[in-house]
Amino acid sequence: MTRLILVLGDQLSDDLSALRAADPAQDLVVMAEVMDEGTYVPHHPQKIALILSAMRKFARRLERRGLRVAYSRLDDTETGSSIGAELLRRAEEVGVREIVATQPGDWRLIAALESLPLPVSFLPDDRFLCPAEDFARWAEGRKQLRMEWFYREMRRKTGLLMDGDEPAGGRWNFDSENRKPASPDLLRPHPLQFEPDAEVRAVLDLVEARFPDHFGRLRPFRWPTDREEALQALDHFIRESLPRFGDEQDAMLADDPFLSHALLSSSMNLGLLQPMEVCRRAEAEWREGRAPLNAVEGFIRQILGWREYVRGIWAISGPDYMTSNGLNHRAALPALYWGEPTRMACLSAAVAQTRDLAYAHHIQRLMVTGNFALLAGVDPAEVHEWYLSVYIDALEWVEAPNTIGMSQFADDGLLGSKPYVSSGAYIDRMSDYCRGCDYAVKERTGPRACPFNLLYWHFLDRHRERFERNPRMVQMYRTWDRMAEPHRKTVLEEAGQFLEKLYAGDPV
Ligand code: FAD
Ligand code: SF4
Repeated sequence: MTRLILVLGDQLSDDLSALRAADPAQDLVVMAEVMDEGTYVPHHPQKIALILSAMRKFARRLERRGLRVAYSRLDDTETGSSIGAELLRRAEEVGVREIVATQPGDWRLIAALESLPLPVSFLPDDRFLCPAEDFARWAEGRKQLRMEWFYREMRRKTGLLMDGDEPAGGRWNFDSENRKPASPDLLRPHPLQFEPDAEVRAVLDLVEARFPDHFGRLRPFRWPTDREEALQALDHFIRESLPRFGDEQDAMLADDPFLSHALLSSSMNLGLLQPMEVCRRAEAEWREGRAPLNAVEGFIRQILGWREYVRGIWAISGPDYMTSNGLNHRAALPALYWGEPTRMACLSAAVAQTRDLAYAHHIQRLMVTGNFALLAGVDPAEVHEWYLSVYIDALEWVEAPNTIGMSQFADDGLLGSKPYVSSGAYIDRMSDYCRGCDYAVKERTGPRACPFNLLYWHFLDRHRERFERNPRMVQMYRTWDRMAEPHRKTVLEEAGQFLEKLYAGDPV
């Protein structure tokens, strides 16, 4: 034996850089299910079950390829509590002094590996379409990093949706066509779901026994756990839902948690699907006339644009990013995020769905749970920990920039040009939640006033110095300033009372 080749739970790709470097005759692949990884935040039980199931299946896939794999199970008595401990144990067992790893997407793990008493050679994670160094070069010297400019460069670089030097259809962006509410009456095919096989069922039992207190329902468990299933899920999405993806991208419905979303983030983030193959499949649907351009461009922008962009932000920002708190928000995360009842129908639905499915789509994450946490002044580190815990696809490199940057504006505008805050009117326009709510979205003050309405102005008022000169927010301040002084006073007082109740843990 000459080296240990580390494969982490989100590195389950056939052509991972560390596996390409492996010599089947000499090297030993190490994969380990360890308690520390399951508990550094209280991950949703479905997320733990997905990662463990997918790791077990991938280990067998590697053995079929002729690699030797030392696989440590969570329920093996000799398994150590951390990845580092397992690497040292295996190194001792087989007498090797060198470790090769594809760079993890989590600064905590990078630091843990760097502190081992054995040399670790990191190889770049080249499953991304924009290498970290290219992103750093693109970002260098720019006053503002804007996704749209990055995305256009990525279109040119990859040729995706390009006709020569021009964007397909003559425009880079079809967002203006993608802001429609959804019809509750339309019958939509659900995403493909997978009945757990014997191996997954064994993992479900293990997770049930080992993580009984983690927030979230374990069953029914329906996620793809290997590449074959992930490819089937991709096929199904492309055929059944992609054509409506654009139209329904920003919509929310109380009785439909999925609408026309792909539910492919966990498969991509674990490495079961590669981002380019997903984008190419979507592009082909448009080129062959089976899906409209607003849907396909919108979908590709999420992957080629947003996914690559947030990864670049994570890579250039380093570990301190996780404690950014540019707006100095200090409140604790309200208990309603962990399932305590609330009268706010939108939050109640988004959290219940998160508990049951480990899934909420982007607009629910951004404009319901994220919007409320930002308006309520919650400490972004606590918000970050919640998102990292509760979603099936949550890994630091993608979750942290989305939460700390896009959703909580805690990175001082590195990622976004203005905070994503809205009153209840936005939620009412894009969803059917307000119809079933105890609060009244049209009321601005009084006991039934929608809390988003009160908190929105409270947020703008308390951060006036920071935002009033932001060109994208000037209009909001003008509207606020035009309101009669007694009305503004009442709004601020009622918002303050609401926050006091919220912070005291009283039901709201
Ligand atoms: P679809 O809506 O069908 O989109 C297709 C694909 O585009 C997704 O599978 C995903 O790979 C990609 N994508 C879309 N938006 C983004 C984005 N903003 N950033 C990166 N990729 C994107 N995504 C994660 O993968 N992991 C996270 O931990 C995560 N945390 C988030 C936290 C917050 C506060 C917010 C606002 C967004 C977060 N996102 C995260 C982005 C996005 O919400 C999810 O990628 C998406 O909801 C996954 O569901 P889907 O596969 O059905 O996506
Ligand atoms: Fe949410 Fe306000 Fe609508 Fe109720 S009225 S669902 S709190 S936006």
